[in-house]
Amino acid sequence: MKNNLICVLIGAPGAGKGTQAKNVANYYNCKLISTGDILRENVENRTVLGLEAKKYIDNGNLAPAQIVVSMIKNVIKSSVENKAGADKSFLFDGFPRDLEQNKLFEQILDELNLSIKGVIYINIEDDIVYERLTNRRICPKCNRVYHLKFNPPKFDNLCDDCKVKLITREDDKIDVIKNRLEVYKQLTYPLIEYYRKKNKVVEINGNKNADDVLKDIISGINCAR
Ligand SMILES: [Zn+2]
Repeated sequence: MKNNLICVLIGAPGAGKGTQAKNVANYYNCKLISTGDILRENVENRTVLGLEAKKYIDNGNLAPAQIVVSMIKNVIKSSVENKAGADKSFLFDGFPRDLEQNKLFEQILDELNLSIKGVIYINIEDDIVYERLTNRRICPKCNRVYHLKFNPPKFDNLCDDCKVKLITREDDKIDVIKNRLEVYKQLTYPLIEYYRKKNKVVEINGNKNADDVLKDIISGINCAR
């Protein structure tokens, strides 16, 4: 990846975005920035921003865009300063998630003299999201993830390692998935349109298996640069 190549990875819940983000960041040796991780770190380390965010999270709300973007700015700044003149490539996982975050994000990139080179959009059909998520089971003890069809446990509904009964994550229940998908579309589709008009969207067919999706992402990025 070229110096200062900044990419954003967008995809519905169940699109395999987290896995692909790690693979792509490894492949290009760029810094992966995931909002979820950054929020967690700030809250755990009790930073000023983390404590502020916690108030919202504890009440079941999302942290405001301004707080999230400030956290991200700190990460970019310290990373850029530590590697003066060196590679400044970043891959953002799930951020920005809407136009509001994006506006603030573009401002800080401007300040740091950086810009988004491409938005990788993993497009996946709703049916496949349901298929993947409703069949997902997790071991409550070791967090190992199973899929009832593609990666089932050896014994019915028991973890191979711990022999503990598997559970369905709250997030993977059908009504919750429906809601997550709706929220995602409402927030993120306008963002995809915004970048489409700027010719920066690399659309990837997310209905394939993970290896093929990764290949498509890499060839998509190589074409976009
Ligand atoms: Zn287990």
